[in-house]
Amino acid sequence: MDAQVSLLDQLLGAGLLFDTGVDGLYGRAGVFEDVVAGIERMVIAFGREDQAEVLRFPPGMNRAHFEASGYMKSFPHLAGTVHCFCGDEAAHGQLLGELAKGEDWTHGQKASDIVITPAACYPLYPLVAKRGRLKPQGGLFDLCSYCFRHEPSTDPARMQMFRMREYVRVGSPEQVMAFRQDWIERGKAFVTALELPHEVDLANDPFFGRGGRLASSSQREQGLKFELLIPVNSVVKPTACLSFNYHQDHFGELWGIEQHDGTKAHTACVGFGLERITLALFRHHGFDVKAWPAGVRTALGLA
Ligand code: AMP
Ligand code: ZN
Repeated sequence: MDAQVSLLDQLLGAGLLFDTGVDGLYGRAGVFEDVVAGIERMVIAFGREDQAEVLRFPPGMNRAHFEASGYMKSFPHLAGTVHCFCGDEAAHGQLLGELAKGEDWTHGQKASDIVITPAACYPLYPLVAKRGRLKPQGGLFDLCSYCFRHEPSTDPARMQMFRMREYVRVGSPEQVMAFRQDWIERGKAFVTALELPHEVDLANDPFFGRGGRLASSSQREQGLKFELLIPVNSVVKPTACLSFNYHQDHFGELWGIEQHDGTKAHTACVGFGLERITLALFRHHGFDVKAWPAGVRTALGLA
C-alpha cells in the first residue's frame, strides 16, 4: 500500500474523515471540526490587532467575475462550474430515461451564473472596487470560504472541497508588502505554537499548459508567492498549509481598485488551509486529540 492511501485509510479508519465515494470529497467528524474551530480562533487571535473587516461569501461566485479574473487562463483544469437543468417537460422525460438506464444525463445541463469559488479572496476584489477609492490606510479583510479545485487525489491533504481562511490587504505596494512580510513571520509563529515542523519556500503553482511553465517560473523569479510547508502525507514532498501571495497591481488593474490618490491598488493575501493544518496536527501529534501536547491544546483553546 502506498503512503498516500495509508494516511487516508488511517483517517477514515479512525472515523476522523468519512468516505463519500469520491476522492477528495469527505465528511468531517466532530473531533476534526473541533480542531478546525481551534485553528480559526488562532487565526483571529493572530490578526486581531489589525482589525480586519470581516466579510463572508457563499462558496459560489458570480460567473462574470470569475471569467474576468483570468482563472481560466491559468487553472482551467481546477475550475468547477455550476450547471443546472433548464429544459422543458420533454427534456425532463429524456433525462429521467437516461438516469434510469445509467446513461449520461448531464449533457443537457446548462451553465448557471455561479461558479464554485476557487480561492476565498476571488469574490472580494469586485466588491472593493465598487466601493470607490480606498482610504489612505488602504483596506484589510478577513475571509473564509469553502473552495473547489478539481484535483481528485488519495492524498487526504489534496481535497476537492476545502476551507480557506484569508486575510487580504489592499493598498500601496509598501503597505501590501509589509503585510505579507509580517504574515510570513506570524505564520511561522503560528505553526511553532502548534509544534509543527515547517519551512517557508517559494511556491510552485500548477499553471496549465506550455504558457503555464512560463507563468510558474516568472512567479518564482519575482518572488510573488511563498508557502509554509509541513510534512503531512509525505516527508519528501511537504504540503503547503499556509500561503503568502503578492498579486502586484493585477487585481487593482483588473477591477479598477484605486488608492486614495487614484493610482491602482496593489493586493496581497495570506491563506490558511484549514483542513491541511488540521491534518498536519493529526499526523504529527496522533489521532487522540486529548493526548496532544498541553501547549498545542492550549494554543487551540482545547485545554
Ligand atoms: P492557494 O491559493 O493554492 O495558495 O491555496 C491557499 C491555501 O489553501 C493553501 O496554502 C492550502 O493550505 C490550501 N489548499 C490549496 N489547495 C488545497 C487542496 N486541494 N486541499 C486542501 N487545501 C488546499
Ligand atoms: Zn487570496
